[in-house]
Amino acid sequence: MGFQPNDKTRELTAQVQAFMKEHIYPREKEYDAWVEDHENLWVYPPWWDDLTAKAREAGIWNWFLPEEYGEWSPGLTNLEFAPIMEEMSRVPWAQAVFNCSAPDRGNMEVLAKYGTTEQQEQWLKPLLAGEIRSAYAMTEPQVASSDATNMELKIERDGDHYVLNGRKWWITGAMGPKCKVLLTMGLSNPDAARHSQHSTILVPRDTPGLKIVRPLKAFGDYHSPGGEAELLYEDVRVPVSNLILGEGRGFEIAQGRLGPGRFQYAMGFVGMAQRALELMCARADARVAFGEKLMAKTSVQHEIARSRCEIEQCRLLVLQAADTMDREGLSGSRDLVSMVKIVGPQMAENVINRAIQIHGGMGVSEDTPLASWLSLARFCRIADGPDEVHMSQLAKLTARGFEAA
Ligand SMILES: Cc1cc2nc3c(=O)[nH]c(=O)nc-3n(C[C@H](O)[C@H](O)[C@H](O)COP(=O)(O)OP(=O)(O)OC[C@H]3O[C@@H](n4cnc5c(N)ncnc54)[C@H](O)[C@@H]3O)c2cc1C
Repeated sequence: MGFQPNDKTRELTAQVQAFMKEHIYPREKEYDAWVEDHENLWVYPPWWDDLTAKAREAGIWNWFLPEEYGEWSPGLTNLEFAPIMEEMSRVPWAQAVFNCSAPDRGNMEVLAKYGTTEQQEQWLKPLLAGEIRSAYAMTEPQVASSDATNMELKIERDGDHYVLNGRKWWITGAMGPKCKVLLTMGLSNPDAARHSQHSTILVPRDTPGLKIVRPLKAFGDYHSPGGEAELLYEDVRVPVSNLILGEGRGFEIAQGRLGPGRFQYAMGFVGMAQRALELMCARADARVAFGEKLMAKTSVQHEIARSRCEIEQCRLLVLQAADTMDREGLSGSRDLVSMVKIVGPQMAENVINRAIQIHGGMGVSEDTPLASWLSLARFCRIADGPDEVHMSQLAKLTARGFEAA
């Protein structure tokens, strides 16, 4: 087991580093100020489209889509992409500049894997070109949505159409001005077996009957310009050709959607935590309290050392998950995929929390990105399925074969 990056990964990572240095880090404060100003709600900064065009011209584009996706993929393996994803995630919004951000990542994978030619023409191509954005609508306010089989939004056939009725919430990206389509999961076959009752269907954002009830704040933040929404579907009619994969396949899509997405997501936390560690070190070196640098204090040294260990452990685990996925596919890497989902956000939460403490009052202010990163790491222990669900799944996979005689 060795995870040294190959020449290709080294070269591409250097390209991302140079782009981040020239175009992303210098705009970090400007971006934060823009999105914090409620005058700018649901509006991208004026330089956003130019910046994404630059990333595309530089060829740093869609690298998340692994080589098994053939014509749609830029040709990287999961293991090759993992360190690049870490680099891109040192500023969380940079993922979107490179067209490598959630929820579009997972949605593009679904369309590349299961979409019809017509669906790929209409939705996948503009998504891959970064012209539009998308949302994945599963969670519902009235049911425990950690269990995907609980979804109640009705999908009923009526001639050449399906009619959708129900409510969704926490739908990331749905508030964004570029969001043009929602992959919506609902109950289509209530009499079928438990895991075959649901379907996933493409709902254009402007379909009559699809209404925004309200934007939602996570820890007081709207996540503009592409934030979360509560949505009402009232007699929303879409053609039957919008169904993905077939009736009753929604659960399968929800599971498949989370393959490469999971390790990319965890690697995002490694990038963010690494940056928090670097900020922590710089602060410990710059600040003097009680006659010595913070760095001279044993407790601070231990916090830095502990953070370094946790980041490195997580990084290696994610690389192993990516490598196993390359060699054995999703079916052979399910346990590792659960592990990185559990470990990634928790590790980042711990490291960022320590970085905040070492920054004192500044740590909780808007003068560093740490406070907003802490909230991101925290809610990601719920979003995409709470920790407990993944832990139960991992425990069952781990115990398999060790049953009492
Ligand atoms: C910022 C944010 C963005 C999101 N984006 C999206 C999105 O784009 N699309 C989308 O469809 N959804 C999205 N979600 C929703 C998210 O996926 C759900 O909130 C999550 O799956 C949990 O569902 P729930 O809120 O109904 O909690 P519930 O299912 O009610 O669970 C509540 C709690 O019960 C406990 N619990 C549940 N199951 C178990 C178990 N098996 N064992 C032990 N304890 C358990 C856990 O502590 C859990 O947190 C987002 C959520 C957030 C906060």
